[in-house]
Amino acid sequence: MQIKRLRITGFKSFVDPADLRIEPGLTGVVGPNGCGKSNLLEALRWTMGETSAKSMRGAGMEDVIFAGTTSRPPRDFAEVSLLAEIPSATGPQETEIVRRIERGAGSAYRIDGRDVRGKDVALLFADAATGAHSPALVSQNRISAVIAARPAERRAMLEEAAGIAGLHVRRRDAEAK
Ligand code: ATP
Ligand code: MG
Repeated sequence: MQIKRLRITGFKSFVDPADLRIEPGLTGVVGPNGCGKSNLLEALRWTMGETSAKSMRGAGMEDVIFAGTTSRPPRDFAEVSLLAEIPSATGPQETEIVRRIERGAGSAYRIDGRDVRGKDVALLFADAATGAHSPALVSQNRISAVIAARPAERRAMLEEAAGIAGLHVRRRDAEAK
């Protein structure tokens, strides 16, 4: 899977709409402390269905919405759109995943304009062997967690890397029926 574009509005420090094209190859994000490098990676992980506020360095999910500064009022929503090229049986497919959160209204997800559940987004990325908990996304505060992972956690990381995590979600679904 290749991420081709990220559009961020009202998410953390990205108060004004930001449109980032991601070219093939290695991309580096550089800038001074506090400029929003980690926020950028969090925007990516959030759109892939991250449900833990703590791993987004917040107390609650609404903490991802721009909280205001001395010169700018807070926003009442945050929205991130991710354009990805996902391999499929018929060739690579461009897919747009959007997540939006409004104060007091929670999150909503869209895949190519259709309203979907967070689980559908999680499955899409699990099948593409990436996603919010993918070992490919390692945040500053997770490096020690990866090192200290218990065997079961490490197995989950390996399964996600191997692209079979989506099968577990489907098995749990099937067992519940
Ligand atoms: P470092 O190099 O230190 O790791 P960084 O570039 O990763 O820095 P971030 O952690 O992404 O920086 O950004 C931190 C900034 O984001 C802080 O100035 C913080 O105030 C701002 N910020 C975080 N959440 C919000 C929010 N909800 N609303 C407004 N600003 C926010
Ligand atoms: Mg950082």
